[in-house]
Amino acid sequence: MTDKAKKARLSTSIAAGKVVTQLSRRLGTGAGSNFPGRVILRIHPEAPEEMASRLDGGCVLVSGTNGKTTTSNLLAGMMREGGMRPVHNRVGANLISGITAALAQASDGRGRPRGDIGLFEVDEATLPAVVRRLRPRLVIITNLYRDQLDRYGELESLSRKMDAALSDLDEEAVVLLNADDSLVASLGRDCPGRIYYYGIEYVGVAEAGLRHAADSKHCRECGSPLDFEANYFGHMGKYSCPGCGASRPAVDFAATYVELYGTAGSRVSISSPAWETEVFIGLPGLYNVHNLLAAAGGAQLLGLDSEAVERGVDGYSTAFGRGERIPIGGRTLFLVLSKNPTGFNEVIRTLREEGENLAILAALNDRIADGRDVSWIWDVDFEELAPLARYLVATGTRARDIALRMKYAGLDPSAIRVETNLREALSAALAGAQKSETVYALTTYTATLDLRRLLTRMGAAPGLWKEG
Ligand SMILES: [Zn+2]
Repeated sequence: MTDKAKKARLSTSIAAGKVVTQLSRRLGTGAGSNFPGRVILRIHPEAPEEMASRLDGGCVLVSGTNGKTTTSNLLAGMMREGGMRPVHNRVGANLISGITAALAQASDGRGRPRGDIGLFEVDEATLPAVVRRLRPRLVIITNLYRDQLDRYGELESLSRKMDAALSDLDEEAVVLLNADDSLVASLGRDCPGRIYYYGIEYVGVAEAGLRHAADSKHCRECGSPLDFEANYFGHMGKYSCPGCGASRPAVDFAATYVELYGTAGSRVSISSPAWETEVFIGLPGLYNVHNLLAAAGGAQLLGLDSEAVERGVDGYSTAFGRGERIPIGGRTLFLVLSKNPTGFNEVIRTLREEGENLAILAALNDRIADGRDVSWIWDVDFEELAPLARYLVATGTRARDIALRMKYAGLDPSAIRVETNLREALSAALAGAQKSETVYALTTYTATLDLRRLLTRMGAAPGLWKEG
């Protein structure tokens, strides 16, 4: 095929994918984000590698059983703070068809991406196929847990698949593995690229005595039960094998100190070959410290500085960590401040984990504290919010701007309602929701204050709260 014919075929396949996306949205079939990708692949089987090859910054893959979404959301925030423009796939679409759909959605009609680096969550079993097609520059593997339904031996066969994927990497590619997971740490022996490890070095957060860990408590080399010097949770910890002497690898990206604040989050000191930093992550539990280390390590391997990491974590934590769930009229109002593109994008990415068919109230003000210029809303990825929304009630002094933005993002105009009066808007948003459903209120700074005042008057929100 000539270059011209290839280009034409790519354009045709992308156009078809976009039509299918629109159609399934309009029909509300929830056909899932894999379907457009399947259509594109049918027309042009090499579409993903062709689109990916146009990303100047290459591709990053995040794989493993748990933590893929949080890790890649955190890393996406760090990338943006470092001046990169990631193209990022959505939850539940981590097969090659989903990645294809994400690339097409982030491309113009000729297949030119509106971003400069790919960031894809990849199903463990799909990793070999995705590595073969996308030739990633960085692969991050978070952990491997055995699903309850899995047969014995499933984890070993999965590990072999992942080993095969890593051995297929290009020489200049790098790999980042979780050292605290003995099975993950054993991966990549035939990998031509350099392998880095992250892990928790601070044993102050270890549990006293080893709980019965269901997975990988045996040495992958010789099958002996592992000795744990420290056990953090599940099968994560500092281990060594009394049988063959295998041990946890030296860690490049370490949590040197961790202070846990329950559901509010954790304060973590991170050391890396290039820099040290201390961040507060507004996500609970040690497993999120692992996600943080995976993202921060990935960021450093991409050449990002500690400032991008700190701001990325901060943006993520502010976006969702400070969100509040307020019960009102048999529904829950989830109130989250979204005052700039970075924060807004993090909120949208996290909303993806809340499912589809969401009820949304969006309040945009242009008072001085919000910034008078609201053109920033065109930098927010509302294209990712549109397929998640069942309806959106737009309010605030610039209600019409947010409604127009959502219309351009692809939300059916009949699903958009403009209501400049905040009380009316709140009523409409709640009325559209089912009993016990959550209504997501995305509000700019002064709109948050207005909404809090209104809720307090209605007796719904606690009267005592801090501004800012
Ligand atoms: Zn051993």
